[in-house]
Amino acid sequence: MQYHIQTALVWDAYRESDGCPLCAIYEAKQKRLIKAYLNENVMDPHFRERSNAFGFCAEHSGMLYEGENKLGLALQLETRAAYLGSLLKSPLVDKKAAKKTADKLSACRGCVICSELEDFMPRYYMTIAQMFSAEKDFSELFASAKHCFKHAIALLYSAEHAGKNIAAFAAALCNGLKAELDGTEADLRAFADCFDHKSSDRPNPQSIPRALRLLTSKKI
Ligand SMILES: [Zn+2]
Ligand SMILES: [Zn+2]
Repeated sequence: MQYHIQTALVWDAYRESDGCPLCAIYEAKQKRLIKAYLNENVMDPHFRERSNAFGFCAEHSGMLYEGENKLGLALQLETRAAYLGSLLKSPLVDKKAAKKTADKLSACRGCVICSELEDFMPRYYMTIAQMFSAEKDFSELFASAKHCFKHAIALLYSAEHAGKNIAAFAAALCNGLKAELDGTEADLRAFADCFDHKSSDRPNPQSIPRALRLLTSKKI
């Protein structure tokens, strides 16, 4: 079968992740993009044009700021500010003009890193469904994976790419998600019960981070 992407990263993520393998792929790609936007992309006119026009979201701005190249970030923010400033030249004489400017500025609120991630993650969802159908070893690994809520939904939307094995793919996915939700619910119940004055148990500090990873894909 011809896949749309190299499958090595998928195999590694499913073999090695103790949480959601797709979160691991997303984080690896995100890390690479943060590095690029602090290095080679800074002086590249194509990327610079896009970061001027769309900027970075709060989360990725924070990650860029924590990175190693404050000058590179400052240069990108400088031309971003200049670009936004250039959109404010005409005087706003009435309601219509105010709305037009608000629409124009609103179209500039985005994130080039989020949009790159959103562009290529679907290729992984599609390929994973194809791999489930074509490779028995992978389907076993897939069935035991702990997909987070967000990525379980994304994979379900890609179920058609599992072809004749669509039912098995969806069942493996939903059974795995249900087991994770049940486990998390029990874990949080045990955590809450520790706060009862009659209890001598100590709350497990991993209960809330585990629940947040499953329910919001947020790594704490
Ligand atoms: Zn995930
Ligand atoms: Zn972002």
